[in-house]
Amino acid sequence: MKLAQRIGRIKPSPTLAITAKANALRAEGRDIIGFGAGEPDFDTPENIKAAAVKAIQEGFTKYTPVGGIDELKDAIIAKMSRDHGLPYKRSQVVVSCGAKHSLYNLIQILCEEGDEVIIPAPYWVSYVDIVVLAGATPVIVDTPEEGGFKLTPELLKKAITDRSKAIILNSPSNPTGSAYHRRELEALAAVIEPTSMTVISDDIYEKILYDGFEFFSIAAISEALRNRTVVVNGVSKAYAMTGWRIGYAAGPEEIIAAITKLQSQNTSNPTSIAQKASVEALNGDQSAVAMMVKAFRERRNIIVDALNAIPSISCPLPQGAFYVFPNVSALYGRSCKGTKIANSSDLAAYLLDEANVAVVPGADFGNDNYIRLSYATSLKLIEEGIKRIGRACTRLV
Ligand SMILES: *Cc1c(COP(=O)(O)O)cnc(C)c1O
Repeated sequence: MKLAQRIGRIKPSPTLAITAKANALRAEGRDIIGFGAGEPDFDTPENIKAAAVKAIQEGFTKYTPVGGIDELKDAIIAKMSRDHGLPYKRSQVVVSCGAKHSLYNLIQILCEEGDEVIIPAPYWVSYVDIVVLAGATPVIVDTPEEGGFKLTPELLKKAITDRSKAIILNSPSNPTGSAYHRRELEALAAVIEPTSMTVISDDIYEKILYDGFEFFSIAAISEALRNRTVVVNGVSKAYAMTGWRIGYAAGPEEIIAAITKLQSQNTSNPTSIAQKASVEALNGDQSAVAMMVKAFRERRNIIVDALNAIPSISCPLPQGAFYVFPNVSALYGRSCKGTKIANSSDLAAYLLDEANVAVVPGADFGNDNYIRLSYATSLKLIEEGIKRIGRACTRLV
């Protein structure tokens, strides 16, 4: 059968693939420690689950408006105002089946052949494929570790052309955990302002920040910036709700109306009961978020120290999210029993075979000198997993 060319241009999500592979090996009886998963290991908080149960019992199980129920839109509007002082109307908010779905729809309605989308690397795996699926061209801008893996005005200026349609910012970042300060975003905004680019701000990790780092939304810089920014967010990461599939976009009315129209011809509304649960997540008790962030911070400190204790690995301290992105390039060129490690994919395969540890190659995030480990797993598994990595690295000579 001849499939459409479109599907041949993209790859399956590598992080989901690694999690699937780790699960398959576990099913064969192998004791695999997984650092691949991009999701909190905590259960969804009880009050949120109870809201979904109530919705089922009350028969809230039918189609809802395509772009989400007003009650959830209002909860999102209240959250944006409370957290960032950002004013939105219902017509400026659309609820989708996860933040990934919001991003996909947004790029579909915004970009086409000939358009360029600026993506700072290291980037979240899906941005590139989502842009390619729209027929547009991803313009990857490398950001070095020395600058905290952050885009600078100079780097941004060099990437802008008259075809630049949008830029995707993600703070705190998956995979590096680095986050932008207000003044850094203001400097980028000054470069963006004279162009006609739309700013896509993926704020999915905004609640997961450490050591008093204050989140700032680029949309809050000025009214002019807000009018060209689409904020993408969701409940997956902050409320341990990855399986519920609720995300949203907030931005200019024209963009939100187009996303809603597209959604009406693909998924229709996001799941009714998950929407009710998300109302409770945003409006209800927030103490579970603080508990999870506290646990993530402790794990971050332990995993960073343990990785830095391995002679050939150096790991920067992330400000947010639940990933570390250690530099492993000092291991390249070494080998074990005839297996030579030349890049991050070789190293990830070696660690899975020899150490029973699943990590994601940095190449999938646009930088081959690194690997990504998620520390959304127990302290016990973190300590054991890093020990295994250390021993496997010693065997590389
Ligand atoms: C997890 C993640 C998303 C998608 O989240 P969903 O709401 O579960 O679709 C979007 N962006 C980044 C950077 C992520 O890590």
